[in-house]
Amino acid sequence: MNAHFQREEYPRGSVPIGAYARFDHLEVGARAKTLLLAFDLVEKNWLDTQGKTDPLFSDAPSISDNAWKIWNQQGLQSTHNPFESMPVYRLELEIPATRGFFGQPPFQTTQPTFTLRSNVGELESKWFVLDISPVQGPDTEPARLYPGLFADPVTVYVKGTMPTGKKGEALSSIFSLAHLPSLSTAQLESELSGLDSDLLAVYDVGQGNANALLSTKKYGAPGVPTLYYDLGAGVYRNRRTTPKSLVFCFTEKPTILLSHWDADHWAGAYASMIKGAYPALSRKWIAPLQNVGPVHIAFAHDVLKNGGKFFTYADKNIGSTALNNARQARFTLGDGPDRNCSGIVLVVEEPNHTTARSWLLTGDCDYVHFVTHLVPLPPVAMVVPHHGADLDPATPVPKPPSDITYKRLAYSFGHDNRHGQTNVRHPTVKGVSLHNGADWDHQYWDLLKPGETAPGGDVLATCEHSPGAFRGGVLIGWDASPAVAKAPCQGRKCTTSLTQS
Ligand SMILES: [Zn+2]
Ligand SMILES: [Zn+2]
Repeated sequence: MNAHFQREEYPRGSVPIGAYARFDHLEVGARAKTLLLAFDLVEKNWLDTQGKTDPLFSDAPSISDNAWKIWNQQGLQSTHNPFESMPVYRLELEIPATRGFFGQPPFQTTQPTFTLRSNVGELESKWFVLDISPVQGPDTEPARLYPGLFADPVTVYVKGTMPTGKKGEALSSIFSLAHLPSLSTAQLESELSGLDSDLLAVYDVGQGNANALLSTKKYGAPGVPTLYYDLGAGVYRNRRTTPKSLVFCFTEKPTILLSHWDADHWAGAYASMIKGAYPALSRKWIAPLQNVGPVHIAFAHDVLKNGGKFFTYADKNIGSTALNNARQARFTLGDGPDRNCSGIVLVVEEPNHTTARSWLLTGDCDYVHFVTHLVPLPPVAMVVPHHGADLDPATPVPKPPSDITYKRLAYSFGHDNRHGQTNVRHPTVKGVSLHNGADWDHQYWDLLKPGETAPGGDVLATCEHSPGAFRGGVLIGWDASPAVAKAPCQGRKCTTSLTQS
């Protein structure tokens, strides 16, 4: 396993002197005055040295592409992880919104957050070369460097430039999800076909998201997962929001369908070690084909090394497959320009119910990027996109059926999550107001200060911001509130309890 992922024994205080960095994430502060930029880093020396001896890491895309083809044909994935000893980091930089960074011009921050997505989408394909130092020098900027997902950051001083076009291509070719096998729509349909979806779980994972379809057939209510949709946890600046123990249920060997590649949607795989292993790593993962950096590639190969499987999905079709009990699952990719809004969206539907209905799972994808082509049946349950962050003000928030009383809107976020000095905290005023205006009753939440207390009404949240706050997973049914129970598999050491419904 790459040391970056260890929760307890992460590498402490190591600072590389140079790194190749891929843009990973942007958070725009209140009134768009500050920007928090996150980058995914690999140590420059390590990669340059590997490139001299190992064709997988060659500077020439034609050589590395070919080497990856051969590597795949040889089926060495489960015996050798080329990224295991790769030193990787997360770097966070906060700058005034009017400034550029690393040779990039400033963002047009007069635009509201959601219109910055196309800029972000473009940035996600770019690489930077960073000089890093523990002490301040001329033209350097202070930044936080995280040696691991759950590690404390160290302050460093960075200076960044763009690599040559050729070097950028070489890096994109080495760190590419295209080296993983892909699934067609028909193949993904058959992966989901015939699953039980009696209940829906939204786990408390801190500032992240993890959900599951549950089967009550063998073990009774609340059942065991038949499919995970994301398996996240709070990481980096939100690492402290993750529960101390986060043991997911793998009794029925469920596949994990990953909405998109942000670490807060997959890092739950590393949140708790069980008997020296991480059970999620030996499962099958399916994720959208997106631009990602070294940390994400190292994770995918960690799954392969641990006996799991990893597939990508890139078809623009709408998939549809029958589930048990006359239900169906349909899925599509968001058509947005960035990672959040181009992920896999999943809707589970009861088309034959007297009032046709659905459960809608979006990951971090804004409705505006899938609703008009997926056209989900009216939801009786939704997990709010992007932890309740701002959405396009014109987004078509799906409304629940008008003739039913049981409906649930779930927010997944971590206690007092923060995004640097930007003061952005999820859920946001705008995100909550949009949903409240679409017939989802946020009874007790102050719409100008959401997330402080228990919401009531149609809303459930995995945590509250107030001191001594309640936290817990959410259990959702099709027609009525299911009875809550401690562990999803009847107490077999899983700690992802579902305490509210
Ligand atoms: Zn995301
Ligand atoms: Zn997220």
